[in-house]
Amino acid sequence: MEKSGMLTISDNTRTVLERRYLKKDTEGNLEETPEELFMRVATCIAEAEGAYEDGLEPSAVAEAFYRVMTEFKFLPNSPTLMNAGNDLGQLAACFVLPVEDSLDGIFDAVKNAALIHKSGGGTGFSFSRLRAKNCRVGSTGGVASGPVSFMKIFNTATEQVKQGGTRRGANMAILRVDHPDILEFIGCKEDNEALNNFNISVGVTDAFMQAVRQGGDYDLIDPRNGEPRGSLNARTVYETLVHQAWFNGDPGIVFLDRINRDNPTPEIGEIESTNPCGEQPLLPMEACNLGSVNLSRCVVTEGGTTRVDYEALKETLWLAVRFLDDTIEMSRYPLSAIDEMVKGNRKIGLGVMGFADLLFMMGIPYNTEEAVALAEKVMGFVQAEAHEASRHLAVSRGPFPNIDKSVFKGDENRAYRNATCTTIAPTGTLSIIAGCSSGIEPVFALSFVRRVMDGDELVEVNPLFEATARARGFYSDELMARIAKVGTIAHMEEIPEDVRAVFVTAHDVSPEWHIRMQAAFQNHTDNAVSKTVNLPRQATEDEVRDIYDMAFDLCCKGVTIYRDGSKENQVLSVSDAK
Ligand code: UDP
Repeated sequence: MEKSGMLTISDNTRTVLERRYLKKDTEGNLEETPEELFMRVATCIAEAEGAYEDGLEPSAVAEAFYRVMTEFKFLPNSPTLMNAGNDLGQLAACFVLPVEDSLDGIFDAVKNAALIHKSGGGTGFSFSRLRAKNCRVGSTGGVASGPVSFMKIFNTATEQVKQGGTRRGANMAILRVDHPDILEFIGCKEDNEALNNFNISVGVTDAFMQAVRQGGDYDLIDPRNGEPRGSLNARTVYETLVHQAWFNGDPGIVFLDRINRDNPTPEIGEIESTNPCGEQPLLPMEACNLGSVNLSRCVVTEGGTTRVDYEALKETLWLAVRFLDDTIEMSRYPLSAIDEMVKGNRKIGLGVMGFADLLFMMGIPYNTEEAVALAEKVMGFVQAEAHEASRHLAVSRGPFPNIDKSVFKGDENRAYRNATCTTIAPTGTLSIIAGCSSGIEPVFALSFVRRVMDGDELVEVNPLFEATARARGFYSDELMARIAKVGTIAHMEEIPEDVRAVFVTAHDVSPEWHIRMQAAFQNHTDNAVSKTVNLPRQATEDEVRDIYDMAFDLCCKGVTIYRDGSKENQVLSVSDAK
């Protein structure tokens, strides 16, 4: 394959690639350039093409994959960039592992999670099958220690693997709201240091939400036999959950019945957990590779106005679906049970990033009906094209093997190659590599202070905002430094009003608009949507409860909230915490 010249990449992109992605020798010296990285990935993934009769030359496909990645129009999830064509060869970001109610089962899961973390994948677990604390252990006559105490073992194992792995191992723990240990679980991250390698979420059912609204009690269920084992007041549990989330962001909430209404293969199993950031519900032993299209690179500007270039977007989406389907073939999964499950359902998770940038470019404020309508339109298009591309692949490659055990059985119009096609990932590092806003989030800051290694502080300004500030004649270093300090331009009268309306940041967007945007994307997403509802420090518990209620009513699959400053070590923070 021809290398199409030197890539122009920003300092941030280069730094991230050098630190984590470029191949290194045993001494830590770089063994490849960014161009070689993308070529390694493109060539490896396109090798899968050789197995099919759909007529395309692997080298031509590799060239197309290389082009779409180096134009930063599409990127696969980090493990693919790190491991494709390397010894590890594990390419998926998301896994869910079963945790069975036995010592063997628990320690199998610990070991399997360690193998997955080593390769840069994240693991989700439902701990709902474990018997409750203080239940009898038949073989010893002792008592069980319960889900939360076992989670600490997973946490410690993750901590140790972290040292040698490709990136921080991340875990999700889900416990059903009707598990007898639910109150201990809700409070288990109150001390921020305990369980630091876990995100936790309460798995809520429709029956529970109904009990909350009616003010009644609900049964706790013994996971060993499905029998009731006491009851709790639903409102009390909901208030406790809301209080804890308000206090420090954990736990989140996932709506299990909503998730299972979209389960494409209910005959194969019920979905009990998601991956660590919540965007990918999976069956136990299932994995999924994600990929994201950069919307800010799929635009045209004519006569001073910018719009989505749907033709370019379509071309990118079709290539991306092909890429992700090929990735399933080329990935080496750490367990044969995972390999079997993944190849039976062939789930892929294609999503978008750079949505906030797109809104800046089109001059549409994030917190408006117009932005929500654009979200519906763009994601509706992504979903329809991803499905169509997957159906097209199925014509030559066959539908996913479990299709006759799926909700698509006998439906010619939905004879897909992949049981799911779309997911909105957080794109934490991908968006830095692509130089765009992450996922569907509003930008966190228009200008912020980056501390560099020698202790200096540099003011970094959002490039789209800087371009507008220069074009409209209000750019100054002093103003940019002030914006970095205050965090929002909403009240800065020296900035034209229309600019202030468009350039909103996460904290200018009210919780209602955050949820409405999440719901708009969820309406057109097979899997789930990664989204954080950012709240100012002074937000109340009532506001958190309203957000949860609204997310349930608008059919979101889960909610994550974060109140500014509520965790001590914030990754990003405007300098004057509000
Ligand atoms: N993930 C992980 N460790 C990390 C970041 C991410 O295991 O440090 C996994 C996790 O399953 C998460 C998924 O990767 O839900 C996608 O995260 P993101 O989109 O931020 O990853 P990227 O591909 O941008 O690195």
